[in-house]
Amino acid sequence: MNIFIMGAPGSGKGTVSSRIKEEFNLNHISTGDIFRANIAGGTPLGLKAKEYTEKGLLVPDEITNNMVKDYLMNLADKKNGYLLDGYPRTLDQAKAFEELTKGTDLAVDRVIAMDIPFEELTRRITGRRTCKNCGEIYNIYYKPPKKENVCDVCGHELSQRKDDNEASLKVRLDEYAKNTAPVIAYYDDKGIVSHIDASKSQEEIWSTIKETLKNK
Ligand code: AMP
Repeated sequence: MNIFIMGAPGSGKGTVSSRIKEEFNLNHISTGDIFRANIAGGTPLGLKAKEYTEKGLLVPDEITNNMVKDYLMNLADKKNGYLLDGYPRTLDQAKAFEELTKGTDLAVDRVIAMDIPFEELTRRITGRRTCKNCGEIYNIYYKPPKKENVCDVCGHELSQRKDDNEASLKVRLDEYAKNTAPVIAYYDDKGIVSHIDASKSQEEIWSTIKETLKNK
C-alpha cells in the first residue's frame, strides 16, 4: 500500500503517520523531517533548505523532488509500500512523482487528506513541542508532558520547531492554500482521496483511518 498523507500544518499528520506506519508496517518518509535532519547536520541539502523552511516557505520543487526520488530508490524494503508525509505539496511535485513512478509498484494508491478549519490551527502549532530523541509529540495546551519541557517517554528535553511561531504559520498556511489545496483537488478528481475530519479526537480520527485503509 502506497499512501500520501496531506494536511495543513497542525492538522495532526505527524501523530497519525506514526500510527499508520506501525499498524501497516510501511516505510515512513516525512520530507519535513528529512529537511530538519539535514539542516541540523549542516549538509549541502540542509544549507539550501534552511533559508526556505525557517521562513515557512516551500523548498523549491527541484530540490525536493530529487530528495524524494533518492529516498524512494534507496528503500531497503519496498514490499510493504510507503507513507509519504508532507509530499507532494505542489502540482509540479505531484506530476513529477507520477512521471517517476508510472507503471511501477511505487505509484500512489491512496491519499489521506486531514481536513481542518484554519482557525483551529494556531494553538495546535504554537503549542507543539517534540522530543528530538524519541519523536514523541506534545502540545502545551492539549497534551502537556507530566513535567514541563521533559519527554514522558524517554526523559529528554522537549523542543519547539523554529517554524512553529505565528509569523511563519501564516506563511505556511498561505503556501498550503495556494499550492497544496490544488494537489488534493487533483487527486480528488482521480477518486483516490479519503477525507478525514481532523478536528475530531485522536481516537476517532485513528479508527476512521484504520477502517478506511483496511478496506483498501
Ligand atoms: P512539515 O514538517 O511537513 O511541516 O515541513 C516543514 C517545512 O519543510 C515546510 O514548511 C517546507 O519549508 C519544507 N517542506 C517539507 N515538505 C516539503 C515539500 N514537499 N515541498 C517543499 N517544501 C517542503
